[in-house]
Amino acid sequence: MARWVVVGGGAAGCVVAARLAARPETEVLLIESGHRFDAEPPAPGTDLGPYLTDPTRILPTEVVRRPGRPPEPYLQGHGLGGSSLVNGSIVTGVDPGGHALPLEEPWAHGPLSTALLAADPLARPVRLVRRNRRRVTVSDAYLDDAPPSLTVVVDEPVRRIRMHGRRAVGVEFAGGTCDADAVVVCAGALRTPALLLQSGISVPGLGEHLQDHPAFTLTVRLADGVAEPTVPTISAAATHDGYQVLPVEHLTAPGYGAVMVGLTRVFSQGRVTVDAAGTPVVELGQLADERDRVALAVGVEAAIALLSSSPFAATVERVFVDAAGTGVEHLVGRPERLRDWVVERAGGHYHVAGSCRDGVVTDAGRVRGYEGLFVADASVLPGVPPVDPYLEVVRQAERLVTDFSVI
Ligand SMILES: Cc1cc2nc3c(=O)[nH]c(=O)nc-3n(C[C@H](O)[C@H](O)[C@H](O)COP(=O)(O)OP(=O)(O)OC[C@H]3O[C@@H](n4cnc5c(N)ncnc54)[C@H](O)[C@@H]3O)c2cc1C
Repeated sequence: MARWVVVGGGAAGCVVAARLAARPETEVLLIESGHRFDAEPPAPGTDLGPYLTDPTRILPTEVVRRPGRPPEPYLQGHGLGGSSLVNGSIVTGVDPGGHALPLEEPWAHGPLSTALLAADPLARPVRLVRRNRRRVTVSDAYLDDAPPSLTVVVDEPVRRIRMHGRRAVGVEFAGGTCDADAVVVCAGALRTPALLLQSGISVPGLGEHLQDHPAFTLTVRLADGVAEPTVPTISAAATHDGYQVLPVEHLTAPGYGAVMVGLTRVFSQGRVTVDAAGTPVVELGQLADERDRVALAVGVEAAIALLSSSPFAATVERVFVDAAGTGVEHLVGRPERLRDWVVERAGGHYHVAGSCRDGVVTDAGRVRGYEGLFVADASVLPGVPPVDPYLEVVRQAERLVTDFSVI
């Protein structure tokens, strides 16, 4: 009987645990640091905002976006399902299959998506990881029918991987330790390299090459009476060469929405290290590369032009370029000011990836130079994908797990 431990029950961890548990002569222990959630969403399809502000679903994480900036909170899902508990769950690209997630068309478009679909020839409806309008997490899709050889433990952060020489032999958590023939780390692109470093794993490049999609938010005040509270929060996207325009129908303030502009081709890189207490120290290095700064400014300028086009006239009353209420006119016709403003105030899409790529693991997901130690989450993607990292992570986990072996 082979005993596997999977650390982290997120997009990759649930897939790996379910597929390993289906093998004969195999026992799997999946250890997740957050809770298990059974509750129904607050309103079908419109759960994004409430979930993103629910501290029980968010893993407390800080990042430094750009050198010299103070650390700021960064969103990552926490609990069985990982970031699929809180993500937009939107799929904009072609779906090549290779996963067990249910996808459905948006059941309606709100006023911003309707205007985008009319105004931008590249705008298309997205698909949502949902069934009958309800969010389906990766845990729902993969663990609900898992065999009894899978044991799931929640509310238990793994502190360290136990090593015997260069072989992983188990993990250590607050409640004790457990033995394993092999360990798969799926704690996400920020925690996975941190946990490996904290466990004394030393591989060139570990924690380097971290990427995310930088994004700038244009906040819009909707015209009186056009807001539709029960449409999906995001239901359409316009994907251009280098950037994507995403209308967001609901914000926490009623009567407001947003148009987000995110990069789809990212050159900048950051890194993850750990401090003496083992806490991840994350430098995102966002927009460090001049090509990213130029592309984001181009995308924001284009989105501002779109918002002043006729399909948006009856929908959008006012456009703001920060949360303090600065009107878009502050930037219109001033390309240099716009570029500095966008670089200074850009946030991101929370799509971290790539921090264990480039030789840290073999093509089969095994940590190079070590035995019985694997990684299968967003940290082994070869950088942040152009769009939809969620599906990419799930498909990659499905592919990698087929080659995992304790020998
Ligand atoms: C706010 C937000 C919106 C997003 N929107 C979209 C979208 O619309 N479309 C899309 O394609 N992608 C989206 N994503 C990205 C997508 O969800 C991620 O790319 C994907 O979930 C990454 O999978 P993962 O397995 O690497 O990490 P995660 O899914 O984050 O899972 C990591 C898991 O490990 C657990 N963990 C961490 N440390 C430990 C430890 N020490 N011990 C035990 N467990 C631990 C965490 O609690 C978590 O459950 C979004 C992400 C976020 C955060």
